[in-house]
Amino acid sequence: MDEIVALSKRRGFVFPASEIYGGLGSTYDYGHYGVLLKNNVKNEWWRSMLVERDDIVALDSAIMQHPRVWEASGHLEGFTDPLVQCLGDCKRRWREDHLREAIEAEGGDPGAELRCPECGGELSEPRNFNLMFQTHMGPVAEEGNEVYLRPETAQGIFINFKNVLNFARKSPPFGIAQIGKSFRNEITPGNFIFRTREFEQMEMEFFVPPGEAEEWHRKWIEIRQDWYLDLGIRPGFLSVRAHGSDELSHYSSGTSDIEYLFPIGWSELEGIANRGNFDLTQHQEHSNEKLAFHDQKTGEKYIPFVIEPAAGVDRAALAFLVDAYEVEEVEGRERTVLRLHPRLAPVKVSVLPLFSKEGMPEKAREVFDAFRKAGIQAEYDEGGSIGKRYRRQDEIGTPWGVTIDHQTMEDETVTLRDRDSLEQVRIPIADLVAEISTRLVAPWRSPKADSGS
Ligand code: ATP
Repeated sequence: MDEIVALSKRRGFVFPASEIYGGLGSTYDYGHYGVLLKNNVKNEWWRSMLVERDDIVALDSAIMQHPRVWEASGHLEGFTDPLVQCLGDCKRRWREDHLREAIEAEGGDPGAELRCPECGGELSEPRNFNLMFQTHMGPVAEEGNEVYLRPETAQGIFINFKNVLNFARKSPPFGIAQIGKSFRNEITPGNFIFRTREFEQMEMEFFVPPGEAEEWHRKWIEIRQDWYLDLGIRPGFLSVRAHGSDELSHYSSGTSDIEYLFPIGWSELEGIANRGNFDLTQHQEHSNEKLAFHDQKTGEKYIPFVIEPAAGVDRAALAFLVDAYEVEEVEGRERTVLRLHPRLAPVKVSVLPLFSKEGMPEKAREVFDAFRKAGIQAEYDEGGSIGKRYRRQDEIGTPWGVTIDHQTMEDETVTLRDRDSLEQVRIPIADLVAEISTRLVAPWRSPKADSGS
């Protein structure tokens, strides 16, 4: 993980937030390549939800909603983690459930008396700590104007169920998808962007007739697993784990996590929950608005069940980075490379004039412009030796590099270098955009999956 953190900072993916003021615990800012990577993750998610299907519509709801939303959803009451504090020297705070999980993972007895992992001190009794950030709406912070930063995007979807039904002319099974920031006052954030207090979620609520819930739950687990695999995650590093009944969230009647083998061990990447009719029923009761679906064909009236695949943009980006990261030796020299799926790679193609003379920069600019006009994220780079420029592009995961050399000036061909195989082929400039466009839509498999690295 340290290597990923260092690369992320060095190459402009992720920076510690407020760094010049000493940082703000586990908060991060995304730099240029981080923004491009995250945008690609989100675009791929939207593509799978909206472009490749016709039973899902999009939504972008507000971060702050009426406080009663959180009363109805159960978050005011139940969105808590068990907090224990060290009564010894260090006074650190811990999540009790995480301490017990860690003991169990090491083969110990999770029911045993807990001690502070930092200083060995005695721990306080667990206290339920609400994870919602509170603020006040209006100029005065007073009782009655508290509002909350949403801890999940899902509730924005449920409270718009009726609006969407009215305009979208959909009937169950259908879904509403949303990407946006969520906030949780986590007791123990950490492990880089794996767990932060401000993060982005990609959530889709799929409304189904109650009798079809289990079948759709199974289907969505498979669809979401395939999404990660199609984007190059190595199969051996992905698994599905069903929650035990003691782990289930207050709203869930069944949850399976897609887990990834992070450097910190197997951890949740995405949760796929069967939320039953909990949320719509709660909002119907609290708002007095009818939220049942009336099936005109059968005359049936019912509150749909909901299957929810809930993923994290930041956590997915971290998994893609970790999965892609490799340090290898090439011709006696060390090379760091991000073997990202081309569609996730921040930059698709670099354009490199071999020398900054003899008309090569101008020719390279022409090639760069052709990519730009075709909507392909390219990067022009003329600084430093060609080897150095390739290394820089390898480290940000650019799958292809175009070099303009002496021969280009004679016959309008360039070399096209492949990040993974290091193969270089000669290709006419006129064919470049079509070639890269074709490669971008071709199925892709990580070479790391085959080499077992
Ligand atoms: P955890 O058990 O790790 O606290 P959770 O089960 O509470 O997570 P969900 O409520 O299911 O998480 O949220 C859905 C997804 O949102 C998670 O799978 C994860 O990708 C992302 N996510 C949740 N909390 C955080 C966080 N604090 N930082 C980054 N991503 C998060």
